Amino acid sequence: MAGPSPGVLEQVHRPAPTPEPDELLVQVEACGVCRADLHVLDGDLPPHRSPVVPGHEAVGHVVAHGRDVTGWAVGDVAGIAWLRRTCGRCAACRSGRENLCQLSRYTGWDDDGGYAELATVPADYAYRWPAGLDPVTHAPLRCAGIIGYRALRRSELPTGGVLGLYGFGASAHVTAQLAAPPRRARTTSRR
Ligand SMILES: [Zn+2]
Ligand SMILES: [Zn+2]
Repeated sequence: MAGPSPGVLEQVHRPAPTPEPDELLVQVEACGVCRADLHVLDGDLPPHRSPVVPGHEAVGHVVAHGRDVTGWAVGDVAGIAWLRRTCGRCAACRSGRENLCQLSRYTGWDDDGGYAELATVPADYAYRWPAGLDPVTHAPLRCAGIIGYRALRRSELPTGGVLGLYGFGASAHVTAQLAAPPRRARTTSRR
């Protein structure tokens, strides 16, 4: 069977994925669109797997998990992000910079992602989803939010400091809301 054409997203029916022993199986409720998904689709990122299901800003309920998973239960809400696996042993992993791991794997590039009814994620790389947070409006926190939050922390912005955002896009618009939360309406009283 020929692989998919660059830039073309096709809807297909597939058997439900089976989680690996250390993975969760998630019923996807929402999945954002990231520029990296379009890079995968257009072939700007060289294919690691074809066909692949894109989507790495996913949120959904855990419906099953592998036998080695601890700390997660069916019914929990999990977020799925771009960084999916790392080696856990190299210098980058051991110094808290696992995003630089040479053996890292990515959701929607190396393994199938969230543009599906069901998706798998290694439990150690799944994010707990706070109760009451709407998956549809907040799914992009799983990529744009992570990038922006990391950059904001690294900027060491002091309270009341001035922040410049360059290349304004998905992460910057999230970061702007974090850095300068909307002001509450002020109540004034006159005497
Ligand atoms: Zn992304
Ligand atoms: Zn590593």
